[in-house]
Amino acid sequence: MANRPVVKTVRGIRTIDGAGVRLTRVLSQRETRDFDPFLMLDSFDSLNPSDYLAGFPMHPHRGIETITYLIAGRIAHEDSLGNKGEILAGESQWMSSGSGILHEEMPKASPRMLGFQLWLNLPAAEKMSEPTYLSITREMIPVVEQDGAKVHVISGAFAGAKGVTPGHIQAAVMDVELDAGAQLTLPACTGDTCFVFTILGDALVDGNPLPEKTAALLGEGDSVHLSATADAPARVIFYGGRPLAEPIAWGGPIVMNTQQELAFAFEELERGTFIKHKAKL
Ligand code: MN
Repeated sequence: MANRPVVKTVRGIRTIDGAGVRLTRVLSQRETRDFDPFLMLDSFDSLNPSDYLAGFPMHPHRGIETITYLIAGRIAHEDSLGNKGEILAGESQWMSSGSGILHEEMPKASPRMLGFQLWLNLPAAEKMSEPTYLSITREMIPVVEQDGAKVHVISGAFAGAKGVTPGHIQAAVMDVELDAGAQLTLPACTGDTCFVFTILGDALVDGNPLPEKTAALLGEGDSVHLSATADAPARVIFYGGRPLAEPIAWGGPIVMNTQQELAFAFEELERGTFIKHKAKL
């Protein structure tokens, strides 16, 4: 197996989004070419509820999937499909906006709020598909333990354990816990775009140090080698997906292929014709 090398690292910027949530935008519009099909990665890590209690009140999405994962904290959510609940620590939510969804995501006060939201682009053929929503609870996330490493398989497959197959586009998302000094090799499909994010602690990728809260785009190869430093544990999120190689027209919460489609989406929002699939009563 050839280990994928680190070809680019991204630390992102501190920013404020939603109704006033302080977060780190790790991946944004600047990285779409290199990270295709991944669009955005927001990292949350706060000990202070005033950083996030304002939340993300009702807002639209079209043309993307959003994957939220929490290591600590909880987020209440509600959407136009009629889904309502809470994402708890160790759980995930995989939302495919397809043609359109309205939802709100409201973090609740906790001792620590730690997690991420990833945006995955939908191919042109799926942008106007029916929206879907999947709450991924702890029982749906298999955990594989191997030589001081613990792999939470949110989606994709590792060592015979299979995560969920949600939404309209396949992508692997795994949360890898490494004890101090532990190492792990993950298989990674040739041709896929793969990157990792050091959500807790410094780690090594293909033997190169990667500081905490840094994303590393990986070059070609069919495996990914991760290790913790000798004296501290680390936690790394692995992401892999097939690139779409399609034009991107990105306007806030809506991501289409052309400016015309984007303008039409905003027109539909104004006219009240944006939502094509409502809650089934
Ligand atoms: Mn949202």
